[in-house]
Amino acid sequence: MHISTLATPPPNTAPAMQVPLLAPNPPRLSTLGPELEEIEQSGMFSNFGPVNMKFETEIIARMFHGTGTCLAVANATLGLMLAVRQAIGWQPRGRYALMPSFTFTATAQAAIWCGLTPLFCDIDRETWLPDAASEEALLRHYGNEIAVLLPNATYGNCLDLARYERLSLATGIPLVIDAAAGLGSMRLDGEAFGHGSTSPLVYSMHATKCFATGEGGLIYCDDTARITELRRMAGFGLDAAKLTVMPGLNAKLSEVAALQALAKLREIDAVARHRGAMQRLYEELLPGFTFQRLTGQRSGLQFASVLLPAALAPRRAAILAAMARHGIGAGHYFSPHLAEHPFFKETTATGGLAVTQEISRRMVSLPLSDTLTAAQVREVCAVFLRACGDDDA
Ligand SMILES: *Cc1c(COP(=O)(O)O)cnc(C)c1O
Repeated sequence: MHISTLATPPPNTAPAMQVPLLAPNPPRLSTLGPELEEIEQSGMFSNFGPVNMKFETEIIARMFHGTGTCLAVANATLGLMLAVRQAIGWQPRGRYALMPSFTFTATAQAAIWCGLTPLFCDIDRETWLPDAASEEALLRHYGNEIAVLLPNATYGNCLDLARYERLSLATGIPLVIDAAAGLGSMRLDGEAFGHGSTSPLVYSMHATKCFATGEGGLIYCDDTARITELRRMAGFGLDAAKLTVMPGLNAKLSEVAALQALAKLREIDAVARHRGAMQRLYEELLPGFTFQRLTGQRSGLQFASVLLPAALAPRRAAILAAMARHGIGAGHYFSPHLAEHPFFKETTATGGLAVTQEISRRMVSLPLSDTLTAAQVREVCAVFLRACGDDDA
């Protein structure tokens, strides 16, 4: 997902994938000539310029039906750092950030940059969302030492935010939601995932997400004062008189990036619908396999996730290699899960992770993109099924 640009790329000997795992499709700047000229003429290239403001206004109107406020940021990782820091204050009451181990490394990294220690909970066997019983057990054990609840909306699946609000109220522990993949997700009642939440949700607009631009993020909540403070923090902690009034950093989104976000907003419904339809086709064509149980109407899917039967889990690498030989890209997000990463082994605390462990070793991520066709899904499934049945497929 986040390929290091520092490492020397391997020699390009592998055959080109006919069906890549991801096919990022951000709005094409090459077709936005007049809008780019407008930015040049405005003389505003960043600093919450007119395109940023237009994007924020339009996404609240179109996606959140007029409810709440938002702040566009340079990426979701910076957005999480800001939202967590703002939520815990400058003298946090505890040292832990309660989050699932089954998430992307950025969730934990953001907590670490806020001076917190990730505390990993288990996930639910069906929804792959953080498990309520596991969270509650850790809350009982660590109590006052937990500074923030930081659940992840796994693969854009909708979290029960009312339960988290209750938990936050009952314990006095602030809540920030890593909704990185959730821009485009829809609840059962047809509202956007996050709609009306008084705690901040942080979404990503990275090229690999469903709401794909290049780099970008969005902090949303129905709390104008909080967004105003976060905007200051994202702009070096400066007030209108250019005086530093609080700790801050630079998390501003450039005007050009905001232009891409605005263009993506206009197509996100079609994009998410198409991805949902391809996901349902996978489920239909792989009837014996376990998929994530969706809690909403729609998820901002980045790939199609499926579990191998437990007996096949040890053969996952061979199955993926066989698929690659047939030009089909596949992966295994989020496996290894965070508690297994070398850095986090030394810097974190965990509860029991039995379900995380099992799901992550069985996880296979299959191709999904804006341009994926039904015929390609059929081909992927045929190759996947052959690879599962036979090492030499
Ligand atoms: C992609 C992702 C992020 C990071 O988003 P960026 O915009 O790339 O910083 C954080 N958390 C999760 C769960 C993600 O999937």
